[in-house]
Order: sequence, then structure tokens, then C-alpha cells
Amino acid sequence: MDLLEYQGKQLFARHGLKVSDGKAVTSVEDAVAAANEVGYPVVVKAQVLIGGRGKAGGVKLAADEAQAREHAGNILGMDIKGHLVRTVWIEHASDIASEYYASVLLDRQALQPLVMFSVEGGVDIEEVAEKTPEKLIRHHVDALAGLSREEAAKIATDGGADADVIDGVADALVALYEVWLEEDATLAEINPLIITPDRQVKALDSKVSLDGNALYRHPDNQGLSDRENEDPIERRAKDEGVQYVKLDGDIGILGNGAGLVMSTLDVVAQAGGSPANFLDAGGGSDAEKIKQAVDLLLANDAVKAVLFNIFGGITRCDEVAKGLIAAFESIKPSVPFVVRLDGTNDVAGRKLLQEAALPNVHAAKTMNEAAEMVVALAAGKPVGAPA
Ligand code: GDP
Ligand code: MN
Repeated sequence: MDLLEYQGKQLFARHGLKVSDGKAVTSVEDAVAAANEVGYPVVVKAQVLIGGRGKAGGVKLAADEAQAREHAGNILGMDIKGHLVRTVWIEHASDIASEYYASVLLDRQALQPLVMFSVEGGVDIEEVAEKTPEKLIRHHVDALAGLSREEAAKIATDGGADADVIDGVADALVALYEVWLEEDATLAEINPLIITPDRQVKALDSKVSLDGNALYRHPDNQGLSDRENEDPIERRAKDEGVQYVKLDGDIGILGNGAGLVMSTLDVVAQAGGSPANFLDAGGGSDAEKIKQAVDLLLANDAVKAVLFNIFGGITRCDEVAKGLIAAFESIKPSVPFVVRLDGTNDVAGRKLLQEAALPNVHAAKTMNEAAEMVVALAAGKPVGAPA
């Protein structure tokens, strides 16, 4: 789960990293009020989950109210590489003497945390890594021992930090490591980590990704996802605890188990179709869960036909059939369904469907047949006998 800059900075502050105070706002008027409050000069910063905002015109200094208004007006609503700017962060502008770089992540190959540091910050760090790799210090940390203050000071020294800020940079590295570890982050990055003319060390930007699977351990962080910019149906699915992913095609797909869902996507693609979304009903789905799933699949207007591909194991096909019948009673879908039930209680499930004689529901025996049928139906072509 990626955090917006200002959210990452809030985590930084919690762990003792210096950041500027500011305000996240969504309108020009609020931006101006925030700018007046934090005091000029201010910096107006687009809050989107993509780097390179500065180059794209999404980070601007404002010396007075008129400039704050102008920049906020330009940046709010701006499109940065496909990301719509709905929020800007206003903070008191910092004076900059140097721009450094610092990050902590897990090096999966080395099986160790990796701290990276460079005095060539502010710019694209990939470029530093490629052109002048000697200027990017890479230091592996003993995960059990953690990052010691001495180690951090050595990283700062080896990286060429100015002598008078070695202590400050070491403190920042230790704090950043703590953010990474204690918040269950997969990445904690500061670019630039600035040195001010009065020799303070401060995080001017943040890039933090949290491990979504560890969020349950961090109630404070659960509200941090960029909900406004999330797809509303994906958001609903998340709230309901359902695995749902939106795609750009026109066929809704429901399967049980990640493996089956993935192969269903493949066979549909092979049959010439294009999935609009997919939903993993998981193991042990009961009728209520199936009803909820149908609701979610159909919430996407692009869906022209739906494929149910269930392999009964823990999930019982008769339960799935009951769920589908219940869903049809309350939702009355306007698009055709293809249903393939196989495995535990499949005979009973098919019988239930047949007896219910749901309008526009077609039974398929194999996965391939199901895929061909749903692709034809999505294209508006008739297929064989209904279920
Ligand atoms: P990014 O382009 O998305 O990485 O956004 P950053 O937050 O890193 O800002 C980009 C650049 O804008 C920084 O590298 C700075 O050079 C500049 N910048 C951002 N905030 C300030 C500030 O408070 N004062 C000054 N002087 N420059 C800033
Ligand atoms: Mn940056």
C-alpha cells in the first residue's frame, strides 16, 4: 500500500525524523488559507502516488498569497502521468544547502534489510545508481541486531556527507530504519533528504509503501490508503473482504481460489475474450457470499456477460447454485451468465440450477466450453440451450 507524500511524512514525524509542518487540502481556497497559516514562502505539492512530480510541474514555490492561489489552482486537477491531483500539500518552504538521498528496503536476494544513501539526492536515484554507482552507498543490515548509530554514521561518512552533519544524517538513517521496521513498510525513502543552511537534516519528500498484509498490526495506518483515488468497486470489495480486481474488458469472472481464477482469465483470453474484472470467492463460499459476489461483478457497467467457474472442494457447488439463485431473485441481472460447476456436490448444484430455470443462465461442462460461451455471449451472439 503506497502512501501519499504527506502521509509518509506523518509516519516519519512519529519516529523523530524532521519534516516541515503543513496541511493537506483539496480546494484552492483551503490551499490559500493553509499557505497563510504556515507562512510564506510556501511550497505547493501535488499529492499523487507517482514520482517526478517536480519535473511535471506538480511542486511549486509560492512567495505570497497570489502565487499560492495561482499554483494551487494549476496543480489541483492536474494530470500527472495519469494520476489526477485531488489533494495538495502546503508546507512552509525550506532553504536548501544540499540534497541527499536515503532509503531502506528489503533486499530479497541477500535476505537482509538494505540501507541506501547518497549525497547526490534530489535527482533520479536510478540515474545515480547507473552512471555513478560509487556515489550510492548500499549497506546491508543484520536484521536481528538492527541498524546501530555507529553503523549509520559510517554510512553517512562513506557516502561523503558533510562532516558537520554526519550525526544528523546518522540520526535520520536510524529513524528511517525504525520507520521501515516498526511500521512494516516495504520501502521507506527520502529524496531529497536536505541539509538546510543552518545545518539541520530534514525529509523534504517521502515515499513509503506499507505491507498491506501487516496492516492489521497497525490500526493507526489503516486509514492511510489513498481511498479517493481507488476504484469505488475495488474499495467496496476491500471493505467486504472480497478479492476483486478491475480490468478493462467486458466479461465478469468469478472463480474460487487464486489458481483457478488465473487460469480462467487465461482461457477467456484464449477464446478471444477480455475480462472486465475478476473476483476470487475463495474457499468455502456460502450462498450469501455468492450473492455479494454477483452484486460486485455487476456493479461494473462494462460487464456484458459473466462467467462463474467453480471447482468444488471446500466450496460446495450446491451452495454456489443456491447463492446464484438467491442473487437472481434480488438482483435480476440484465446480462447472461455462464456457469461451470465441477467438484463437490456438482450434480446437486447443476440440478438446482436446472430446476430454478434462471433466465439467461447457461451451463457449461468444461472450462474451455464455458470460456467460448461467455465470449460469444459478451459479443451478443446466441449460444446453445440454457441451463
Ligand atoms: P518529486 O519531484 O515528486 O520527487 O517531489 P519532491 O518533493 O522531491 O520535490 C522536487 C524538488 O522540488 C526537490 O528536489 C526540491 O529541489 C524542490 N523543493 C521541494 N520542496 C522545496 C522547498 O521547501 N524548498 C525548496 N527550495 N525547494 C523545494
Ligand atoms: Mn522527491
